[in-house]
Amino acid sequence: MQMKILTILGARPQFIKAAAVSRLLMQKGITEVIVHTGQHFDHNMSQVFFNEMSIPTPHYNLNIHNLPHGAMTGRMMEEVEKVILKEKPNLVMVYGDTNSTLAGALAAKKLNVEVAHVEAGLRSYNLAMPEEVNRILTDRISTHLFCPTQNAINNLNLEGFERFGCNVLYTGDVMLDAALFYGAQSAARSNIIERLKLHGGYSLATVHRQENTDDKVRLRKIVTELNAINAKQRVVVPLHPRSRKALEELNFGFNFLVIDPVGYFDMVELIKGSSIILTDSGGLQKEAYFFGKPCVTLRNETEWVELVEHGINVLADCDKIFQSWDAMFGKKFNFELNLYGGGRAAEVISNYILGL
Ligand code: UDP
Repeated sequence: MQMKILTILGARPQFIKAAAVSRLLMQKGITEVIVHTGQHFDHNMSQVFFNEMSIPTPHYNLNIHNLPHGAMTGRMMEEVEKVILKEKPNLVMVYGDTNSTLAGALAAKKLNVEVAHVEAGLRSYNLAMPEEVNRILTDRISTHLFCPTQNAINNLNLEGFERFGCNVLYTGDVMLDAALFYGAQSAARSNIIERLKLHGGYSLATVHRQENTDDKVRLRKIVTELNAINAKQRVVVPLHPRSRKALEELNFGFNFLVIDPVGYFDMVELIKGSSIILTDSGGLQKEAYFFGKPCVTLRNETEWVELVEHGINVLADCDKIFQSWDAMFGKKFNFELNLYGGGRAAEVISNYILGL
């Protein structure tokens, strides 16, 4: 049977993960139809990744963005349903934990089309995070659950997934595939360190989680702490449009360097050149590890618990960021722990799909 996959993408981390998987699907002759929901739509949050990482051009652009959660998810479901009816895929593939993930999974499942979830089984155990709701619901209705870590498998076992008649598979992390493949090219493809004159050391920070950007008290504390770090070592912050808006509305002085979001090659060069990472991003916590940098996570919990267990990543409540940075800065860690597989997750996933 000629396998036809419908892949639902919408947000930056999904483009990066899909870049790794799409390449392998193509190599193995699996037909992939890509739907871009439009959740992220600015050039440097979307198109730049398709250009730089040679991700196939989406067959459908739904252009759905800037809506509240319910409206966004609902509109996406409506439009994805139409595409599924037209394309009749064997499988709908979704990535991660965004509204696009949940909308794609729900639309498929209601049409009795099997769902494959890349990055299944992750849990923060904080249901106030929209991402946690998306993860749990997507996992529950997926037939094929591709888990990046052993902890993800353990989480699904604890929730009794053996009883649900689905296939749970350890694949390793597709983000490691992307980091290795594109990381090997980044030095030749980016001159951001020269452009921003960053020689001499800096800390790299990102903030975009709703729990940090939508709460003015938290955001003010984060800015205060980053200001304190910046007094010791320059802090560079590529800022998500939502965070930039929140920072401007806060009207609170900051002295660190804020730049527009950057493409993946620039980002990898920024990571490689940094002393330490400060972030509330899931993907960046792992990339810090992949590129041998300690990480301070600007949250009270994380899905990537193995990094915290090994002390490579510390969770910092928003008034303890400077303290945590100070404790982690310059420390030596073991970054050879093989926590995320060998960078062959896309190969495992595409071989599995071929065997269906
Ligand atoms: N990233 C990027 N440019 C930036 C900021 C982040 O390419 O300006 C990459 C980052 O390296 C990681 C991914 O985007 O691979 C993480 O995306 P995000 O933080 O939006 O989502 P999360 O990982 O929290 O789901």
